[in-house]
Amino acid sequence: MAFPSSPVHSDLLRRHAAVCLDIIVIGASIGGLSAAYNLKQAGHNVRVLEKSDGEVKIKGGLRVPPNMSKLLQHWGLGDQLMAKAVQCPRITFLEGATGNFQSELVYHEELMKEFQAETYGMHLVIGSGVRIDYNALVVDVNIDEPFVVLESGRRINTDMVVGADGTFSLAREKIVGHKEAHKIGPYTTYSSELLCAQRPDDEYVVHIVEPHDDASPGWEKIVPLSKLNVSQFEDRVQRLLALATHATETLHVVQEPIPNWYSDSGKVVLIGNAVHTSCPSSTNAPALAMEDGATLGSLFSRLQSRNADEALWLLRAYQELREDRCVTTVQSDIELVIFSTLPEGPARDERDEGFRMARKQESLDWENSREDILRGAWDEFRGSFGYDAYDATDNWWVDWGVMLQRMTAIENVSTTTHRVILDPLGFLPPLKCERDTSQSPGIGTVLLLDMSLQPQRDFASFPFFSRNGKASFDVYGCCSVINRPCVVGHVLVTQKATNNQGSNLRRNSFFLMFRTLLSLPSHVMYHLWTAFLFTKSDIKTTVIPITSLAVASAPLSELSHLPHIVFWIWFHVLQFDVSNQTLKPEEDEYNKRDRPLPSKRITWRNARILRWILVPACCALSSCYSKETVYASIALCIFTYVYDEMEYAAGHWLGRNVVNAMGFMSFEVGACLIAGANRHALDNISVMSVLCSAGIFVTTIQAQDFKDTEGDRLVGRKTLPIVAPTVARPTLMLALAAWSIGLSALWGLSMGASLTFNVLALSVGIRFGSLLRTLYLRTSGSLYRRQSTEYLSMNGSLLQQQLLDVTSEATASCVSA
Ligand SMILES: Cc1cc2nc3c(=O)[nH]c(=O)nc-3n(C[C@H](O)[C@H](O)[C@H](O)COP(=O)(O)OP(=O)(O)OC[C@H]3O[C@@H](n4cnc5c(N)ncnc54)[C@H](O)[C@@H]3O)c2cc1C
Repeated sequence: MAFPSSPVHSDLLRRHAAVCLDIIVIGASIGGLSAAYNLKQAGHNVRVLEKSDGEVKIKGGLRVPPNMSKLLQHWGLGDQLMAKAVQCPRITFLEGATGNFQSELVYHEELMKEFQAETYGMHLVIGSGVRIDYNALVVDVNIDEPFVVLESGRRINTDMVVGADGTFSLAREKIVGHKEAHKIGPYTTYSSELLCAQRPDDEYVVHIVEPHDDASPGWEKIVPLSKLNVSQFEDRVQRLLALATHATETLHVVQEPIPNWYSDSGKVVLIGNAVHTSCPSSTNAPALAMEDGATLGSLFSRLQSRNADEALWLLRAYQELREDRCVTTVQSDIELVIFSTLPEGPARDERDEGFRMARKQESLDWENSREDILRGAWDEFRGSFGYDAYDATDNWWVDWGVMLQRMTAIENVSTTTHRVILDPLGFLPPLKCERDTSQSPGIGTVLLLDMSLQPQRDFASFPFFSRNGKASFDVYGCCSVINRPCVVGHVLVTQKATNNQGSNLRRNSFFLMFRTLLSLPSHVMYHLWTAFLFTKSDIKTTVIPITSLAVASAPLSELSHLPHIVFWIWFHVLQFDVSNQTLKPEEDEYNKRDRPLPSKRITWRNARILRWILVPACCALSSCYSKETVYASIALCIFTYVYDEMEYAAGHWLGRNVVNAMGFMSFEVGACLIAGANRHALDNISVMSVLCSAGIFVTTIQAQDFKDTEGDRLVGRKTLPIVAPTVARPTLMLALAAWSIGLSALWGLSMGASLTFNVLALSVGIRFGSLLRTLYLRTSGSLYRRQSTEYLSMNGSLLQQQLLDVTSEATASCVSA
């Protein structure tokens, strides 16, 4: 297939790099040719070195998924593809031994239109519009200068080398710095070409996947079909295979991932199988190699200078764009092979049952299929097939590229590095900075570096725009940006300069330090608010009820003790909440988005650090009162640990209720000690009220579990409504009634007070019951009908809040009696 001289995609037609690099591509296979073609279109001089003689000795079959055919269409190869390829409207799964129909995956026409491409099977034909040297085995690659050495001893200097030399890549070896030991995967593939009896011009390819110990990697080894255990297949397959004379044997090679896909010098880069080998005959390996080449070409069409830094940034962008996609696609390819080659056993039975179910439900056409079934079947393919390498690069460019370009327009840019103190825990909010740009208008970039002063992969850069002679930009603590603790970071400030920048930039260094001090109050407010957000939902359910209990039962000896009680309780609630919310942060993602972790006010890592700092901090706070208060803090921290880290919260309801109650007891003991006149001991009334409230918690705290029965059941929790659904609600009502009557008697309330208290408890009980019904009706009715996540989470949190309110009201009314 010859690449056409006139591509179709506007991107390829429009943009040329400002400078022309000499680029050598090692390997003239799919990845190499794609890179060569795209880099040539981007305006560079490209030369491909291929060790083979260029003759296609082995024919193989390639699947061309929509993301690959889309690229071919962009390059103007759509017609040739149509002429060569066999369109594939469906994949049919038959059982090998019997030929029984299992299932089929239909590439619905409507869906393919959405992907803007079709799926084809295509014969591999190699050709290219760029210069290709065959019989050019590269035996050495120098990653610094750079140059390559051919087998003949000839050295070819160049500006950049693209390693598209496949699984045992020499370029990769040079980047990694040593020869890697490759592991052998379990999937040996045998590809046989068959001539179609009816139409002799048509050739088909059969791939057979079988484990074989004596196989070798590569695509050159031909083996007789007698090597294969053909008799295991049904008659039709055997007859089909009888048309073939031999098979190409290739081994599944497993590569370890490497951290950098390019050399530190920015002179050598890897694409295709050289950096992400999949198993042989996978659906996506050729497509990924092709996308790599397109991405590289598209990025290097934006090259503005010969500066090594700029190329390095573009290569960093290339890896950023490609790495996740390749890793997940290769993984899903391998899973597909595992799935379709399962040996006999329960896993295979389960798969076949799944096939049968899918057949029953889905064989309907696209329009009549149920949405959830189509979604299930196509969600993964959407991401994979719908990918357009040019669009992905364009999007990246809009987000980041413009900045990079400004930054590396090196002839005009002054670059200075500033050493600034950044907070080690990343607690500080962004530091607002301003600098005078009246003499140097334009856009610049602030870039955070780590301690080694090297811009690492997880860099962050921010643009600052010059307005009215002032440019402002934000500097973030290193941790929150590059997620790596370091006390001292560096800020690299670059700006398009028209004249003397040095003094401005030096002043800016002091300015940063000065501003750090000035903005301290706003930093403090930021963190206080973050702490408040951790505890916000527990102010009503914990801080207020326990303060009331302490004030009433200690009793409050001096009004000045009140703020101490409130702060002590709140601080300990913070300790509990930070622990609780950092254990399963994903649970808050949907319906508690204002919490610090989902709202990204603090990183998870820093929240975990805070969680452990709060333990000694709580004890230190308590030591200001008495050693008995310290014991209460210690107990509370231990129960928090048992509840969260030891996962009692997710365990049996009894253990959970008891730990909950002990935790609340510790809260109450501490609060009563601070409230009372004697901070070393509780009097009898306080002891009694603490014990009673512990009893109330043990017997009623399960009220919170009703709202989450389905979710709890799914994750295997043993809450009371799950373990004993018929008794859970009546016992709760009974407990509320018993506690209100018992407590009225215990505290000798007057008739009027006792009646009010009991009516209050009763009304809470009734409201609770009716709220449960509302919850049930709403979830089973409109919530499921609408199937809207937002709606669900909004109502879920509202109802949950109402339930919590009622629960805390119930608990508080009992406790405050
Ligand atoms: C001959 C052949 C047949 C294939 N058949 C099938 C098939 O039937 N089904 C399937 O799913 N996949 C097949 N593949 C693999 C599939 O094409 C790859 O997944 C896809 O091509 C990825 O391509 P790549 O460009 O990254 O690397 P590769 O396709 O592995 O190509 C690497 C290229 O680099 C050349 N090369 C390597 N080292 C040097 C060196 N030192 N100097 C110069 N040149 C060098 C090789 O000759 C080769 O052309 C085949 C690959 C090859 C090479």
